[in-house]
This record gives sequence, structure tokens and C-alpha cells, in this order.
Amino acid sequence: MSGKDFDVARVRADFPILHQEVRGRPLVYLDSAATTQKPQAVIDALVRYYTHDNANVHRGVHALSERSTAAYEGARERIRRFINARDTKEIIFVRGCTEAVNLVAQSFGRSKVGPGDEVLITAMEHHSNIVPWQMLCDKVGATLKMVPVDERGDLRLEQLDALLTERTRILAVTHVSNALGTVNPVKEIVKRAHAKGVPVLLDGAQALQHFRVDVQDLDCDFYALSGHKAFGPTGIGVLYGKASVLESMPPWQGGGDMILTVTMEKTVYNRLPYRFEAGTPDISGAVGLAAALDYIDSVGLDAIAAHDRDLLEYGAQALEAIPGLKLLGRGRERSGVLSFIMEDVHAHDVGTILDREGVAIRAGHHCAQPLLSCFGVAATVRASLAMYNTREDIDALVRGLHKVREVFA
Ligand code: PMP
Repeated sequence: MSGKDFDVARVRADFPILHQEVRGRPLVYLDSAATTQKPQAVIDALVRYYTHDNANVHRGVHALSERSTAAYEGARERIRRFINARDTKEIIFVRGCTEAVNLVAQSFGRSKVGPGDEVLITAMEHHSNIVPWQMLCDKVGATLKMVPVDERGDLRLEQLDALLTERTRILAVTHVSNALGTVNPVKEIVKRAHAKGVPVLLDGAQALQHFRVDVQDLDCDFYALSGHKAFGPTGIGVLYGKASVLESMPPWQGGGDMILTVTMEKTVYNRLPYRFEAGTPDISGAVGLAAALDYIDSVGLDAIAAHDRDLLEYGAQALEAIPGLKLLGRGRERSGVLSFIMEDVHAHDVGTILDREGVAIRAGHHCAQPLLSCFGVAATVRASLAMYNTREDIDALVRGLHKVREVFA
């Protein structure tokens, strides 16, 4: 057990997948930045939904449809409350964080970004918060600019004001870097962008599961969320958008639920949030995500954040004691990720040897190639943490890394 008020054994008992052997060793799961495992409460919510309530939402007049609609809309309200949005019409269900960014790039972008305009991102972004903007800029003849990163893994914010020009139409920044764990001072960034009249999208894929996110306090225009990174199911995510901004955006995809009436001549679009939810949504995913947020609250985000900090500190110290290992990303504030390279050993070889020891980590560019190239490397080993990890998991990682050293000695 680590962290004073945190019963990690009790938390682990809620995650059935963790209690298995992999390659004859107890599973040590250190890949939660890729996807988190699911507590029994989420699995039960999915089974309950499909066992009792399954029907399509909004259009039905029968009891099951009423129940599934109530569950789906209840999930929307649950998420609104979790991130402290003003209104449920600001909560748009999407497939994941990637789809949330694509929605904004396509809908907001195509209507507000034109030839000669600029889109500002950072060198720290996941490909999901780079490529949609590149596609937009290519399409409309705009320029994509990047806030650079320093050698510690912090954004060079002294350059931000100069990079925000009168041509900048949007700034898109990650809240937490998936490759380094850097937590960006996003509230300050939003303030500085707004001072120049530039709206801000925050990529929250790596934030929600680690600490409290309050979209009103951050004052961001958009916040993109991923359900599967926050102990919820895959296939569900959320785009939060300020109602005033969403109201000004054209629909993105066309189809059921985003319309009020259709004739061959004309379609009248539905109101928010349905205007951006074309087709049958991932109803069970929304229900599962709501259950995941209930679970996070039952454990307590403050306790989770303290546990995270303890593990991160313990892990950084333990890893730095390994000869030839270099940690990447020593930013001012970090969360959830230990990213490193080992002298003379390729990250993929480290990953393969660790897997034989039952330790699941990720090796590669973590969909953040521009960032890794800033550090002059093509790949790192990434151990990423969640509330169910323990100091013993870190010890197992360290033992595995000593094995790697022996193999490559
Ligand atoms: N942004 C960041 C920072 C991420 O870590 C990820 C997932 N690795 C994404 C975006 C994409 O999220 P999703 O899987 O929900 O599309």
C-alpha cells in the first residue's frame, strides 16, 4: 500500500483483469496511458444495460427506449457534473478524444479558418491533436505553427505571446503529455490566448483519470475526453464545448438525431447537443463511462492524485538508480508517466524482455513523433500508472530492467 489514505489493495480487488498470470508471472500492468483497465462496476453496468434496458434512444415510445434514453441522458448529466460544465448541451458524445479533435477541426475549423490563417498547436501533442489540424490547414490553405518544448519537457511559454498572432484562429494544447507526463499550465495558457481573442481546445485524454478537471475554471472553449483512458469502455469519448461556441458551428456528420426535419430540398438541424451526434450513438459506452466516473468519485480524485504522486516519485528514484537509464521529461509538474531510454538497448527489446517477466509497458514513439524528435530519439520505453498500481509494480519493473541489462551486458 502507498499513499496515506489510499487502500490500493481494495482498489485492485475491483479490477478483475489484474488478477491473472501472464507468461507464468503475475501480471504487472503499466500501460494505462494507452488504455486503463475497467473496474467490475463498469463491467456490471454494461451487462446490466444489455441485459435489461437495451433499445435505441430518443425515437422510441416504448418502455425500453424510455429507459435507454434516460440512461444515455443520465450519463450526459453525470459527465457534465464531473467536469463542471454549465449545461448538458455542452456535452457531446463522440468515439474518443481523436474524434473530438476531428469534430472541432472539421466543423469549427472549416467555418472559421481560411487561407493565410494560422492554427497553433505545441510540439508536445499526440498525433490525434496534430493530424486533424494538418488536414484542415492543407484543405483551407492555413499554416500550422507549434509552441516548442525545452530540454526538460516543458513548453517554451515565453514564446507563446509571439506565436499568438492576429491570424491565429485556434490554439490546441494537451493538458497532460502522454509521452512525457508533463502537466501543462493550461489555465494560464487559456488566459493568454483569450487575451488575444484566440479560442482554446484542450486535449484531456491523459488528465481526467488523474486529477480534477473543471472546464469552467479552466475557461477553455473545448475539452476533449477519452472514456477508455478513464476506466470506461473503448469507443466512447466526449467533446465539451462552450454553448456559445458550439452554437456558432455547422454540423459535422449528417444523419439521424442531428436533424429535426428533412425534405429533399432542405434539412433543419437539431439543437445542441444532438446537432453533433449523427446516427445511433454508443449508448452502452456512455452508460459505462458514467459508471467509471462514479467509480473514480467513490475512490476519490484527491486520494488518487496523491497516490499517483507517490508512485511517480518512487518510480523516478528507482529508475534513475539503474545504470545507463535516462528518464525523459523532467517537467515542473508531471503526472502518470515514466518515459525513459536505456543505453545501447532498443526500446522494443526492453518491451519484449519485460513482457516475458509479465510486465506490460509500451515501447515506441507513443504517437508523439514530433516530441520525441525534439529529444533526438525515435522511441522510448513508457511505464504509465493508474490508481491500481503499487510500489511492488515498480519494483517488478526495476527487476525486469536489471534482467534487460544482464541480457545486453
Ligand atoms: N491525446 C492524447 C494525449 C492521448 O494520449 C491519446 C491516446 N493515446 C489521444 C489523444 C487519443 O485518444 P483516443 O484513443 O480516445 O482517440
